[in-house]
Amino acid sequence: MVGSALLRRLRNEDCTIVTASRKVLDLRDAKATRDWLALTRPDTVFCAAAHVGGIHANNARPADFIRDNIEIQASVIHGAYQAGVEKLVFLGSSCIYPREAPQPIPEAALLTGPLEPTNQWYAIAKIAGILQCRAYRRQYGCDYISAMPSNLYGPGDNYHPTDSHVVGALIQRFHEAKTAGYPEVKVWGSGRPRREFLHVDDCADALVFLARHYSDEEHVNIGSGTDLTIAALADLVARTVGYEGRFDFDRSQPDGTPRKLLDVRRLNELGWRPRIALAEGLADAYADYRDGIAATPDAKIA
Ligand code: GDP
Repeated sequence: MVGSALLRRLRNEDCTIVTASRKVLDLRDAKATRDWLALTRPDTVFCAAAHVGGIHANNARPADFIRDNIEIQASVIHGAYQAGVEKLVFLGSSCIYPREAPQPIPEAALLTGPLEPTNQWYAIAKIAGILQCRAYRRQYGCDYISAMPSNLYGPGDNYHPTDSHVVGALIQRFHEAKTAGYPEVKVWGSGRPRREFLHVDDCADALVFLARHYSDEEHVNIGSGTDLTIAALADLVARTVGYEGRFDFDRSQPDGTPRKLLDVRRLNELGWRPRIALAEGLADAYADYRDGIAATPDAKIA
């Protein structure tokens, strides 16, 4: 999802883009990754590839999440260093912060307390990636930076009923209920956790901005600066999709962390702000789902 958004964003720049699809290059394979980077010799690398998923997927497959992410980032960061890559932007996530972090969460909250258990596997891998970039800067002088986006949504999202993040899941479930005429939709958890959402095109724009204007050891939060409850999000998604039935909360499913609103002052002070409001972004995400996956039922379970 982020990789595709970066391609859309970089089309407006004077640069040659080199990509490697999953079929061509397995980034967990350090040698293959090193060889590919040595051959293509990019000036800048965006390390957006990761094994990602929502609260259920993280909880259900902790080994995949911790292993794949550590392998991917170790191959890419070390391969970039060996190939003489000048700039690397490593992507993490707001789940790297302690569960009880102060809100909004400043960058300095990293490693100040215990993590949220449902996604600690992914978080630990991403924390290792941030520290790897810092270590390569200190020891080898590499200009490698890290960016921490809040919860992302938008075109190219995963709409799997159980493995996706909340926006993709709710778009899929409300659309299915509208189409099939179901009277009720289940939303996981209590509806009370708060989340901050950022459209993936805004995220890609911030990543290009940071690649150009930021060079330091400390990672940088990327977010919209506002959050809402999952109940309010469900209401907004239902209206976007045009679902007129009820929705109810399935309290047997986990809530995860109560809140993770990012403190985005550092990014704002550098001169970047998001452009896409949530209602507008959700309409765009729903159009992507309706005209893509929902229109080709064989591709439903990606
Ligand atoms: P998180 O930010 O790492 O917890 O990622 P998620 O996007 O998976 O979940 C965000 C919040 O949405 C959690 O409180 C979930 O319980 C809630 N949620 C409600 N319905 C769903 C759903 O259908 N799928 C997912 N993944 N989360 C849901």
